[in-house]
Amino acid sequence: MKLDLHTHSAASDGVLPPGALLARALEAGVELLSITDHDTLAAYDAIGGAGAHGDLRLVPGIELTAQWRGQVVHVLGYGFDATRGALRAGIADQHARRAARAQAIGDRLARKGIAGAYEGALALAGDGCIGRPHFARHLVAVGAVRSVDEAFTSYLSDRATAAAATRWADLDEAIAWIVADGGQAVLAHPAKYGCTHTRLRELLADFVAAGGTGLEVLCGRQPPDAFAMLTALCRRFGLEASAGSDFHAPESWRAAPGLVPDLPDDIPALWARWVAGYG
Ligand code: AMP
Ligand code: MN
Ligand code: MN
Ligand code: MN
Repeated sequence: MKLDLHTHSAASDGVLPPGALLARALEAGVELLSITDHDTLAAYDAIGGAGAHGDLRLVPGIELTAQWRGQVVHVLGYGFDATRGALRAGIADQHARRAARAQAIGDRLARKGIAGAYEGALALAGDGCIGRPHFARHLVAVGAVRSVDEAFTSYLSDRATAAAATRWADLDEAIAWIVADGGQAVLAHPAKYGCTHTRLRELLADFVAAGGTGLEVLCGRQPPDAFAMLTALCRRFGLEASAGSDFHAPESWRAAPGLVPDLPDDIPALWARWVAGYG
């Protein structure tokens, strides 16, 4: 079956409004979808909640920004009941952090001679939860850089000067919000943290100890050997496997219009609980 458990709408740093994202997924034949915006549930508020949308089933989702041992990691949450309020309370703090960081990034860019970036990024974010991609798109639009990639390399990467240090939720806090609302916590794109394998195992040990139960074994474009490495980690830590494209914008959609994951028989699929008759 075709599914996608990792996508972004304009409620965070995606380009399509939530309704357009849903329509595009339906058109692509996706049967199970989750919109996992960064630190916000606004997409679900905009389209009237999770559940059946035509032939597509929409599962509640979010991608939380968290910190672990001085490093930023992303925690996906699924299948929660947001009316319980733990996630909503938690993301209110994340929004305040994002707002403060955006001002700090704007100030630093201004000191480097790029005025008005804060206002520009805010305008691009609109009602959405502001993030570095909004700054990157603004820097491209005003000709300060040639590409989003260059914006990150020169101004916005964690190492680059404009990336203001932010104290995000701790890993165990982020997991606790998801679990308190009855959801499953999944570690996003583990191959993208630049960790050694030893450090990744330490991260997963802490992740499991804090209540995490899933690992994203397929995410967008990843190195060809990542899948085998990540399914082996599912086995070792008793984790369910998740899969998604990390879709942000239509140009990249073609690379991953939903996916049809093929897991080894002994690896439990996170999505089985939402799909009658799967596995
Ligand atoms: P933020 O949530 O504000 O910290 O921004 C992180 C987001 O920026 C990620 O979810 C990606 O969508 C995007 N991003 C991170 N690094 C890069 C990069 N090098 N080039 C393009 N986009 C990136
Ligand atoms: Mn993003
Ligand atoms: Mn991410
Ligand atoms: Mn993502």
